[in-house]
Parts: sequence; C-alpha cells; structure tokens
Amino acid sequence: MAITTEGELMDKIVTLCKRRGFVFQSSEIYGGFNGFWDYGPYGTAMKRAIEQLWWSEMVEKRDDVVGLDSTVICHPKVWKASGHIDRFGDIMCDCKHCKARHRVDQMPDPKVCPNCGSTDLTPPREFNLMMKTYVGPVFDDEHVAYLRAETCQPIFVDFHLIRVATRMQLPFGIAQIGKSFRNEITPRMFTFRSREFTQMEMEYFCPDKGSMEIWEHWRDTRYKYYREKLQFREDEIQFHPHDKLAHYAKAAVDIEFKFPFGWGELEGIHHRGTWDMSRHQEYSSQNLEYFDPATGEKYLPTVVETSVGLDRTFLAVLSHAYDEQKAPTKKEGMEEDVRIVLHIPPRIAPVQVAVMPLSKKLNDKALALRKDLWDSFRTEADVTGNIGKRYRRQDEIGTPFCVTYDFDSESDNAVTVRDRDTMQQERIKIEDVAAYIAKKIEF
Ligand code: ATP
Repeated sequence: MAITTEGELMDKIVTLCKRRGFVFQSSEIYGGFNGFWDYGPYGTAMKRAIEQLWWSEMVEKRDDVVGLDSTVICHPKVWKASGHIDRFGDIMCDCKHCKARHRVDQMPDPKVCPNCGSTDLTPPREFNLMMKTYVGPVFDDEHVAYLRAETCQPIFVDFHLIRVATRMQLPFGIAQIGKSFRNEITPRMFTFRSREFTQMEMEYFCPDKGSMEIWEHWRDTRYKYYREKLQFREDEIQFHPHDKLAHYAKAAVDIEFKFPFGWGELEGIHHRGTWDMSRHQEYSSQNLEYFDPATGEKYLPTVVETSVGLDRTFLAVLSHAYDEQKAPTKKEGMEEDVRIVLHIPPRIAPVQVAVMPLSKKLNDKALALRKDLWDSFRTEADVTGNIGKRYRRQDEIGTPFCVTYDFDSESDNAVTVRDRDTMQQERIKIEDVAAYIAKKIEF
C-alpha cells in the first residue's frame, strides 16, 4: 500500500540515501559541490552489483562481445575527431534578475526565466560541456587535454588493436564501463544529471548489410534486460524514438524510466552508421577498414551502440524499489507504524543476507554462520537493537533475507529466515540455508 505521493517520493529517496549511506553530496563538510555525488557503503555495494550484472549479461555471457578499460584522458585529437571540441555543447542563458542559469532547450518559454519570471535574460550563447585539464608541466593551450565526455570514443579508437589481438570477426562488440565527465550547466534531479558519472557502453561493429536487424535485436535485448533482470514494471519503462536523428544515424531510440520527477532517459540505442570510424580514420590517417574474409571486401564497420548511465540506473532501481507500508507495531500507544522498505531485486541488493543473533550470547555462532554464507552472498551481521528494529533497518536498505540465530538453533540446528517482501518467516536447517537463499536469488 503506497502512502507516498510522486512529488514527495524524490525527497524521501534523497533523505533515505543520506541517512543510510547510499549516496550523499560530495565534499559535504565544505558545503557540497554541485553535480558531484559520493556513494557510501551500501551505495557502493549496489552500484558494483548493477555494474557486475550489466557486465555479465553484456560481456561474460556472450561470445560476441569483449571488454575494454581505457583511460579517462586520451589524446585531444580523439575529441576533435569525435566533434566534441567543436560541437558538444548546450545553448544557455542567464537571468540578469535572479542570476539563475538555464539550458535554453529546457525552458518552457525561452524568453522568460523559469525561476523568477523575469524577461531580462542574456542573449543565448553556446557552452561547451567538455572538462578541460592540462597534461605536462606547462599550463598553456598546447598542453590542454580533456576528461572524456563518453566512454565510447576510446572503443572506436582501440577497435583495430582489439580486433587484431582477439582475432574477432564482424559482427562483434566491445564494451566498457567507466567514468565520464560533462560540465553540465544545470546539474539536477539528484544523480540524474551529474557532472561526473559512470557510463556502461557497448559498441557493436558490423557490416552495413543487416545492421538494422542488429539494431532491433539490441533494442529488444536491452528492453528485456530491464523487465527481467532489474524487474522494472511495464508501466515504468517506455521507448522514446528520437524526434531528430543525427545526420549520420539510421535509427535511434531511448529507453526511458518513469522517475519520481517524470519520464527520463536511461539508455540510448543508436545506429551510428560508419560515422565514428570514418572520423577517426580521417583524423588519425590510419586505415581502420575491416577485411571481410568471407566476401573478400574491405570496408569501415557500421556501429550499433547501447549506452546507459550507471547512476541513472541506480536511481531508477531506488525509485522502483521505494515503498512505505502500514505495519503493526508494539510501540506504546500505537497500533500501526510505517514500514519503509526497498524492494530491490535480490541479485543487486547491497546486503543480500543479514545474520542476526537473537542475543549477544549467540554472537559467535551467528558470526560463524555469516562466514559460511559470505563466499556466496553479500552479507552483514546485525547484532544490536531488538529484533523488530533490526528487521526495519534491513528493510530500509532492501535486504531480502534476514537469518535469525536463536536459542533453539543450538538444539535444532535451524534458523529463522525472514523474507523482506512478504515478512513471512520459515525455519530452515542451517546446512540448507545457503541453497535455500541461492534458489530465491537466482533469476
Ligand atoms: P541527456 O539528453 O539526458 O543529457 P544524453 O542524450 O546527452 O542525455 P548520452 O550522451 O546518450 O546522453 O549518454 C548516454 C547515457 O549516459 C544516458 O542515457 C544517461 O543514462 C547517461 N548520462 C548522460 N549524461 C549524464 C549525466 N549528466 N549524468 C548522469 N548520467 C548521464
């Protein structure tokens, strides 16, 4: 039973994230740093689990995709070739009255400040989103370098080396997970639009013939991933075809998630033609063509891309998972209380099993059980507070299973396993606990 309105939900998620150590503002003791976020202990665990899930589905469980881990800073020519130095920007303007800065394409009326309603605005001007740094001892124009604005460019640049090293033949993909940086004009919506964020991208190289079918395959595969692996409901995600295609693109669609603040882009699936490879061939003066042994032809590969933000996926998982329920309580003078629970899919929950000794005297036995389980699951020992409070604490961080070791456990060699979603408890033999939980987590 939901008792939270959509408007309140975002605030509640942000508050919970801070209270429980999922995500908080970077450099908070200095007043925070706009557009930058730190992931605390539970946030880190969940972020890594999502990353691992993506990697396992996109690389490890396929024989046509290989991995890459490239540098954040690469040769500045990469960004010249990609068009980022000349064109990667937004049009912005400032309100002279309230000093707010806006992206013109996001203003409902580009002549009026959405913050204070003033019409006293600066003329629109271009703003490049690339983050600059210097490499080497001299801080001048010759030593300027850029933090990457997307993880895919190094994939195009390394394509040839990787193909030769792995002897992969087309079609095949190269995937990468890593940080990207954009000097966003208006970072907002919590981590949705950050200045430093993690992308998970896969570039699939193929002959042009049949490439539209490959694009359709990836579009459907990625949609299925959200429904089945992240367990998003049908009404939470939708396709959004691009209104305007880039001149080189044959097809592009976004997968959007219904965030508490409205629909927002989670992932883009783009048919990029030979644009990227031809640009890098031109700017590097290297021949990046592929020799097709089957047909004897030489050609530049066509690229189909799947590109998703890890931080946005994380936020989508929390938005999907957050729930408040009325629950019976033993608190004095109250019959009902609010139970905050995160229905995070067990595979990616920060803690999958919390082991709880009923009394301090049982700590050693419970900790031994935790050690038996930690090779297979992300575990935590929760030893303080009454058991009801501990359940609530674990519900708030989305722990799917709480295992309680009590005085009977000594004699019956069994423990109580409590399910987060149903709150049902089952008595399970200690030797069967790992298999019991593994069966419930696997999907
Ligand atoms: P938007 O239109 O929201 O700015 P985009 O179309 O520029 O996004 P892409 O360049 O296609 O985004 O990047 C691929 C993915 O990277 C996006 O779908 C999103 O999940 C993620 N991403 C992009 N910009 C940011 C950001 N500033 N903060 C967090 N994630 C981002």
